[in-house]
Amino acid sequence: MNCLRQCVLETKRNAYAHHIQRLMVLGNFALLAGIDPKQVNEWFLIVYADAYEWVEMPNVTGMVLYADGGLLASKPYAAGGSYIHKMSDYCQHCSYNVHIRNGTDACPFNYLYWDFLSRNRDKLGSNPRMAMPFKTYDRMDPLKHRAIADDSARFLQTI
Ligand code: SF4
Repeated sequence: MNCLRQCVLETKRNAYAHHIQRLMVLGNFALLAGIDPKQVNEWFLIVYADAYEWVEMPNVTGMVLYADGGLLASKPYAAGGSYIHKMSDYCQHCSYNVHIRNGTDACPFNYLYWDFLSRNRDKLGSNPRMAMPFKTYDRMDPLKHRAIADDSARFLQTI
């Protein structure tokens, strides 16, 4: 995953990363992978030179992870690979294919995104700002749903 690799390497090197790298690559991954918000907060606090708790904690908990239940943001900042592709040149140099939704060559952000929606329908299904993605998910074949869930489970087991 070239996007994660580059963002982590630059973070290690500079103790700094651009807002999009923090929010849409690293944070988005933590959100989609279901990583414990306390651990994510701790990681951001440790690795960034400008991460003072009063600003880091609400941003990571509220904006990045939606772990405040929606007090700060009106919807989770969750996105598939196409958003990262649009905002960067990471995908051109990645082993995964950003245009494929599932399967071993597919960008993991893609199936993790759809699986995230499926796993959190009880919390997000009535949010009007999430209506469009849920509609897209519901239009997919049930076999596609199964494949997305299987790919996500397989991927999450490996990390
Ligand atoms: S294809 Fe997916 S994993 Fe690879 S760089 Fe693009 S968004 Fe990241």
